[in-house]
Amino acid sequence: MSVDLSVFGGVSPAHNDFRSDTLTTPTLETVQAISNSTLGDAVYEEDDKTHELEQYVAILLNKPKGLFCVSGTMSNQIAVRTHLKQPPHSVLCDYRGHIFVNEAGGLATLSQAMVQPIHPKNGKYMTLVDDIEPNFIPDDGEIHGAPTKVIALENTLHGMVYPIEEIKRISVFCKENDVKLHLDGARLWDALVHDELPLLEYGQYFDSISICLSKGIGAPIGSILVGDEKYITKANHFRKQQGGGVRQSGILAAMALAAIKGNFPKFAQVHQYTKEVADVCDLLDIPLEHPPQTNFIFIDPSKNIAKLVEILTAAGLKVNSGRLAFHHQITRESVDKIIQVLKEWWLKHNKESGSGTYYK
Ligand SMILES: *Cc1c(COP(=O)(O)O)cnc(C)c1O
Repeated sequence: MSVDLSVFGGVSPAHNDFRSDTLTTPTLETVQAISNSTLGDAVYEEDDKTHELEQYVAILLNKPKGLFCVSGTMSNQIAVRTHLKQPPHSVLCDYRGHIFVNEAGGLATLSQAMVQPIHPKNGKYMTLVDDIEPNFIPDDGEIHGAPTKVIALENTLHGMVYPIEEIKRISVFCKENDVKLHLDGARLWDALVHDELPLLEYGQYFDSISICLSKGIGAPIGSILVGDEKYITKANHFRKQQGGGVRQSGILAAMALAAIKGNFPKFAQVHQYTKEVADVCDLLDIPLEHPPQTNFIFIDPSKNIAKLVEILTAAGLKVNSGRLAFHHQITRESVDKIIQVLKEWWLKHNKESGSGTYYK
């Protein structure tokens, strides 16, 4: 009996879904890749496909070793846990950081860490001079604070690419001050589409990097944590403790490898669609939080988002906030539709109110 895979070959159910880039569905190539899977037990470190995936990503990021984790949350949390030793200690990160806001308080419970959430002075990304140095708590014998032991950056953050010159400065500071530098690179793939920096160079600036397979890349599960040998060996210990030891993960690894190879080349087109819609917003005076750089548009949250969500939903598009996420399964038709709705709304409003903007 053969299995009917046609459901994976057609237009994805995510074709009109702008809520998140996690909503992509496995492509036919990704599902077919299961037939290349190996069936070893990865907890025994006996699965070749899992090892191939871990090595593939480690080599891309120029680190000695990789560890397959079930989610980006898990890889971030075990990354920090592995860097930290004994409290009191603090983790310094952007106040919008996923690691702080969206991981169920994991830093407090799993790492017993204080968090220093920083509002970047420039409103975009933390800089060494304005944000990190003034907030850094040294481990110098002063007994009132919780010394900063990990700095966690995120790239991309709100769809913005972290400037490499700043990463370099922060990296030097961390090395000089015995602080570990972690990168939550859930969407590092997106940064790489435009970035000045080749993928290979990232590794040298960070002690650990986590990169997602289930966001834009479109694998059903997973994230890879990379670092040096000793670090990854310990991280594997914490992964097991947190219930993340997956047995026949070769099936998932085969899918992830196919997803990287098949879908990453589509990112430039995804970013092009994003820019196209953003340009229309600009033309129609729909204010954006910042110019889009990758696959997100953030409509200024101080405006009437509820109304916009309502009309886009009525037009058959899936949107749940002022954040529009683009991914490789968003179709040309969906892009055209969103543009058309925005234009019609603009016309209708101008006819009724005579006002140039409708976001009052
Ligand atoms: C989604 C995301 C994660 C976590 O990934 P999950 O696989 O959903 O746990 C971590 N960091 C960032 C920046 C993310 O966007």
